[in-house]
Amino acid sequence: MMLDAFRRPLRDLRVSVTDRCNFRCTYCMPLDEYEWLEKGEVLSFEEITRLARLFVSLGVEKVRLTGGEPLARRDLHKLVASLSALDPAPEICLTTNGSLLADKAADLVAAGLRRINVSIDSLKPERFRRITKRGDLDKVLDGLFAAQRLGLHPIKINAVIERGVNDDEVLDLVAFAREHAFSMRFIEFMDVGNANEWQMQKIVSKREMLETIHAQFPLREIGRDKGSAPAVDYEFVDGRGGDVGVIASVTEPFCGSCTRARLTADGKFVTCLFAHTGYDVKKLLRGGASDAEVLGVLETIWGKRSDRYSEERLTALQSAVGYDPKRQKKLEMISLGG
Ligand code: SAM
Ligand code: SF4
Ligand code: SF4
Repeated sequence: MMLDAFRRPLRDLRVSVTDRCNFRCTYCMPLDEYEWLEKGEVLSFEEITRLARLFVSLGVEKVRLTGGEPLARRDLHKLVASLSALDPAPEICLTTNGSLLADKAADLVAAGLRRINVSIDSLKPERFRRITKRGDLDKVLDGLFAAQRLGLHPIKINAVIERGVNDDEVLDLVAFAREHAFSMRFIEFMDVGNANEWQMQKIVSKREMLETIHAQFPLREIGRDKGSAPAVDYEFVDGRGGDVGVIASVTEPFCGSCTRARLTADGKFVTCLFAHTGYDVKKLLRGGASDAEVLGVLETIWGKRSDRYSEERLTALQSAVGYDPKRQKKLEMISLGG
């Protein structure tokens, strides 16, 4: 087992398959215009598969495809198929905004995809449009139900809750998830990237969300999946299916059990969501490095990893000096793979 400087193993790999997105969620990609990576700068499916095989040999059990919007990458099902063919095969998950899912779900499932998270921050069409700037809620719901009809289970709905934006919809989202047997994942608003105007006042804490939910739908804590998942999960006391999870990166950071590495769309190996830089593995691959050489680099980088950004943020928030989200320039979440 490969351990970092705090004895955390490497278990999960998040791969940003593209930096592009057809939405402009205010908390993630608030600008209208971005300079996209050139096609040739983005890792090919062959390069991603080769790296995934090496990561699996180092202990990675789960590969999450994300972005940007992963379904904006043409023929993503072909990547799913080649990752599914790895031996041992990692669990393959997808995080998507769902807008292109209705058309692509069947190919993805046929290629071996079993787990999916769909991001839905509001069930009100106009508000959904306001948050995503370009999204059509009906299309996303079509994709969500198409995935369910194909037998994907559990399907998780991700919702970033922001005060004054959608904090009045926590119960509606839970009721919707219960009615249709989806798992609901609430995410505290984070200061990812450099442009989302994050302020502590905009956060709705895990505690507050749980109090709201518990008053209407009593919950019982289950804990973190495998002890290291970002979400703390809860089941309904009334035994109704589905569950609720909360990712409290800001108020209850979980760096101590963080087993996640990231691969950016342009092939950088990144050891923390809030990193300002990554190691250019694409250069190694394209320079003709052998598997043994690439493995050596990955092992060295992970071995030195000492990231604990969210814990440091909490310490700063609780200090007299306070926390400045702009104190460090960060990589944008779209290229990082959220
Ligand atoms: N485009 C896909 C989607 O929206 O699901 C995948 C990429 S997106 C960056 C991955 C997840 O990060 C989404 O669930 C999104 O809601 C979440 N996210 C983005 N910006 C965030 C922020 N500032 N705070 C918390 N979560 C955020
Ligand atoms: Fe695009 Fe996902 Fe970011 Fe929204 S959260 S802008 S859908 S990458
Ligand atoms: Fe992991 Fe970095 Fe998030 Fe901490 S802040 S949980 S180290 S990705």
